[in-house]
Amino acid sequence: MSINIVKPELLAPAGNFEKLQAALIYGADAVYFGGKNFSLRAFGDNFTRDEILQAVEFTHERGKKIYAAVNIFAHNADLDALADYLKFLDSAGVDAVLVSDLGVLALAKETNLKIHISTQANVTNWRAAKFFHDLGAERIVLARELTCAEILDIKQNCAAELEIFVHGAMCISYSGRCWLSKFLTGRDANQGACTHSCRWKYNLVEEMRAGEFFPVGEDERGSYIMNSKDLCLLPYLDKVIQSGVASLKIEGRMKSVNYVAGVVKVYRAAIDSYFDGNFSVRDEWLNELDKIAHRPYTTGFFLSDGKPTEIYSTSKPSRASDFLGIVRDFDAKTMTATIEQRGKFEVNQRIEFFQPTGKTFSQIITSMRDEDGTEIFSAPHAQQIVKIPVVEPVEIWSLLRS
Ligand code: SF4
Repeated sequence: MSINIVKPELLAPAGNFEKLQAALIYGADAVYFGGKNFSLRAFGDNFTRDEILQAVEFTHERGKKIYAAVNIFAHNADLDALADYLKFLDSAGVDAVLVSDLGVLALAKETNLKIHISTQANVTNWRAAKFFHDLGAERIVLARELTCAEILDIKQNCAAELEIFVHGAMCISYSGRCWLSKFLTGRDANQGACTHSCRWKYNLVEEMRAGEFFPVGEDERGSYIMNSKDLCLLPYLDKVIQSGVASLKIEGRMKSVNYVAGVVKVYRAAIDSYFDGNFSVRDEWLNELDKIAHRPYTTGFFLSDGKPTEIYSTSKPSRASDFLGIVRDFDAKTMTATIEQRGKFEVNQRIEFFQPTGKTFSQIITSMRDEDGTEIFSAPHAQQIVKIPVVEPVEIWSLLRS
């Protein structure tokens, strides 16, 4: 069967309303979020019911789509509240729900909501994909643990829309099917409370020698034995698109506005360039992805090239730039930008403006005033409003970075 290639949707994480705004303004076609309950990011900000209504309105005003993650593995005690929540999502106008538990799927089928099967359901073959499609799922978010050839095979044998992760953190076990966090801390990954215990540094302790840590590891690099690199399929985006998937997903509901804006802008440009007929991997895209906090990148299982997907030397992500603020207003007459502060910055510091559509530019901060017009020399307070002169017109929602 030949593959029908359509321009895939770019789907971004919305950990809170501000991140949702950033994702859509920087070029996502759709966003996914979790409510206060029933989604696998219990420690994210997540959305109240009022915020969900606001988010649906903001998204639909822009002609884009919004999906709700309801991907916990439910227990009996959850069912009544889940049924009520799903009815609310339906009435709110959410475009689809992501589910992994068959009980939740059954409840979702009692509403008009479209159903996407979450990656937590670990669909790794076309029979499983077809089974969920026959059950009423419109889309399957495939397991991350698949090669490009396997994705193609699933596409050729199943009429459901397919979604794959193209960027972001990986689980070292089959996505979410892991008891490490629950075992070590009592916080259950399958209830949205993972502590990312796989990224901790481990030593060996002999029972009779409490406090004596024996290193675990094969060489001098150390012992982060389960710490996965981050997925980045940007260099292979042509192959990804040619596999016929309908949606390219960015991981990271817990990540910053800076991460969401940066990753979305890069993938937006890359997808558009493929369909404009001039895709090649550009240094500016790779540089941008390097600036954002990340672990070393990997292609994960996509290429099946056997390269290591773990980092043994550290569990800390690296980043080349700091997120300092968001442009809330721009006065073209006085060439002044109004910034909402997110990180400390000061006069004489070199900063850059990362814009939703325009080019990134850099300048020195020559002076600074607070909201009342008083001259100041630094902006140390969280969410402080600061005005600075700019050397170029700057778009509202641009990010100020070091
Ligand atoms: S501990 Fe690590 S592997 Fe396990 S669910 Fe959490 S992130 Fe995934």
